[in-house]
Amino acid sequence: MVVVGAGIAGVACAAELARAGLPVEIRERARVTGGRMASKRFEGRPADLGAAYFTVDDPDFAAVVDGWRAAGLAREWTDTLVAYGPRGREEVAGPVRWAAPRGLRSLVEHLAGDLPVAHNRLVMTVEPGPRVDGRAAEAVVLAMPGPQAALLLDPALAAATRAVAAQRWSSALTGVLRFPARRWPDFRGAFVNEHPVLSTVCDDGDRRGDGEPVLVAHTTTEFASGHLLQPTAAGPAIEQAVRDLFGLPEPAELTHVHRWTYAKPAAGGVGPYHLYDDGIGLAGDAFGRPRVQGAWRSGRDLGRALAARLLADRG
Ligand SMILES: Cc1cc2nc3c(=O)[nH]c(=O)nc-3n(C[C@H](O)[C@H](O)[C@H](O)COP(=O)(O)OP(=O)(O)OC[C@H]3O[C@@H](n4cnc5c(N)ncnc54)[C@H](O)[C@@H]3O)c2cc1C
Repeated sequence: MVVVGAGIAGVACAAELARAGLPVEIRERARVTGGRMASKRFEGRPADLGAAYFTVDDPDFAAVVDGWRAAGLAREWTDTLVAYGPRGREEVAGPVRWAAPRGLRSLVEHLAGDLPVAHNRLVMTVEPGPRVDGRAAEAVVLAMPGPQAALLLDPALAAATRAVAAQRWSSALTGVLRFPARRWPDFRGAFVNEHPVLSTVCDDGDRRGDGEPVLVAHTTTEFASGHLLQPTAAGPAIEQAVRDLFGLPEPAELTHVHRWTYAKPAAGGVGPYHLYDDGIGLAGDAFGRPRVQGAWRSGRDLGRALAARLLADRG
């Protein structure tokens, strides 16, 4: 069994297959596990580049989160964010947001445990059979954004090709900004409404719990679309927008920009997964609620369904 993609959906799927006693291998094109639950270290300190936090209302996912909390990897961050918009600044109460002191990627790595993950392993083709890069596999799961899956799928796999083609995705840039000192008004995370550059800004020192003067900003899809070819060039505009929003006198000491060509799917995908008769499965956050929990749920449910089918076939 081959699972392509070591984001939370792929790892949750593979974990379920392994739990059922089925041999499984995850292939991941990046050099690390985590996908869009991405963290990068700057001078030894991690900052989250992808998902900003996650929320939990599924009891099964809550059990997974309890495991992360018990391992010291996840912590309740806040239930109150702020919103900046034409009416000024206001507090927004909501569900508890969870954060990871070592970065959200550490949670996916923990979930992966001893599962075999082949990193730096770009899968190029999935053909009828199914065959993965020319070799027969009992089944193959594509756990990634639809446009990335579309690059692999042979058009003869018509149903899967249609399901991925139906997805609509938005882009984003993430700016990590380290300032000389914490000079912003007290806030934890901010939604920025009707802004030409910013959509959210999080206080990463507060989120991580170390109090470091680091803000992480996500841009609007419209702003990102104009900078996908040269994301680094967008750094000064992101920095200026953040300084203007919070009235920060000093420039950032460090600015890092990460590009997400496929950041988030439009909500409303039919889910929570697809599993076709030819042994091809599709999972990820496009099938269901486009969030961390939805991606986990999609992968877990596909893993269960695939394991049940394969064990039944084996009699
Ligand atoms: C900027 C941003 C902000 C977000 N904010 C939030 C938030 O606040 N809360 C929340 O709940 N969610 C948020 N999300 C969404 C959340 O990150 C995703 O829902 C979740 O991480 C998706 O997991 P996944 O496993 O479905 O996909 P991914 O994490 O994208 O995993 C897919 C994996 O497949 C790999 N891959 C792709 N093609 C190939 C190939 N050909 N061969 C091998 N490997 C391949 C990729 O490298 C990747 O590792 C955010 C996402 C972004 C980008």
